[in-house]
Amino acid sequence: MASVTFEKVTRRFPSGDRPAVDALDLEIADGEFMVLLGPSGCGKSTCLRLLAGLEDVDTGSIRIGVRDVNHLPPRDRDVAMVFQNYALYPHLSAADNMGFALRIARMPRRHARGRVDFAASVLDLEQYLERSPGTLSGGQRQRVAAGRTLVRDPRVCLMDEPLSNLDARLRAQTRGRIVRTQHHLGVTTVYVTHDQTEAMAMGDRVAVLRDGVLQQVGRPREVFARPANTFVADFVGSPAMNLFRLPLRAGGVRLGALEVTLPRPVLAAAAAEGADAVVLGVRPERFTFLPAEDRTTPGLTLVVEAVEDTGAVAYVHATAEPGGGLGHITVRLPGRPTHGKGSALRVTVHPDDLHCFSAVTGRRY
Ligand code: ATP
Repeated sequence: MASVTFEKVTRRFPSGDRPAVDALDLEIADGEFMVLLGPSGCGKSTCLRLLAGLEDVDTGSIRIGVRDVNHLPPRDRDVAMVFQNYALYPHLSAADNMGFALRIARMPRRHARGRVDFAASVLDLEQYLERSPGTLSGGQRQRVAAGRTLVRDPRVCLMDEPLSNLDARLRAQTRGRIVRTQHHLGVTTVYVTHDQTEAMAMGDRVAVLRDGVLQQVGRPREVFARPANTFVADFVGSPAMNLFRLPLRAGGVRLGALEVTLPRPVLAAAAAEGADAVVLGVRPERFTFLPAEDRTTPGLTLVVEAVEDTGAVAYVHATAEPGGGLGHITVRLPGRPTHGKGSALRVTVHPDDLHCFSAVTGRRY
């Protein structure tokens, strides 16, 4: 096991107009489960491939432990990778698939079997060990693929969207098992996904990438509570945070009928950027519903476009302050939804639940 350090790592493909990975600085601690999160094409897989040695770094350096691995061939890096499209040997049992690399490495049979049995117990595969892959479900096969990598006891384990072939329920079950196995074995793991729910549920920390550039790295809760910019605010959290571009007035902004006073440092930072507006963010679950008889509490008027009732919670998709230029809004409602399309309702928000970003750079103030 080992730490992993990316230091100003850049990789540019000849056909690309910008680097696929751009001056990446990232430190992953020994034994940590780090998730690389971002939309398609943001450079997540390229980061893994650079770390595995399947791509060359153009500039910068990658270290595993204290060793610079830039010029080490993949086989000498002691890095193991689980892909989305796991390829199991169809004629071998689950146990033999998991132990294959150990056999090639000439590990004594009893010792190898001990490792396979251990991984199978943590991954909940004990009863399937003698079955061939063709007789296993997708989730079981994916766990065999993960087990095959983990039993090798690599210094670093890389996983590239390993659960994307599974249905939602299996994905949730399997991600729990992978995290428990990783914690048990303590293998430093870098896990790639575009699914923010998966990232939040699995990562010790999450690194959010956009266009090859690291946007923020932190514990899932930190990234959710204090997104570093509007991109992260929009990408992390489901449904996404509502973002409103509001013109600056004396001392603050106006959100519907809500007068929002902005702290002095925010006003100073906006003035220094020459901004005439700021972006305010509110998570859908942070709005408070105002009953119809309350006509005095300042709030926002919404006209309902659609209601999404998931059973546990209901979200209203609406137009905020029709005619006022605020645009679309999503709000979580308490209890059972009773509002039909076209009906109006009012909500308010506590100042502590407002996120404030630069309208010029998108950065959090
Ligand atoms: P996805 O979630 O869709 O797999 P990703 O975030 O993993 O995407 P990468 O596969 O790392 O993104 O790709 C980053 C960028 O580099 C993309 O613009 C992609 O088109 C480009 N790219 C990746 N591999 C190559 C290659 N071998 N040759 C040229 N361009 C490439």
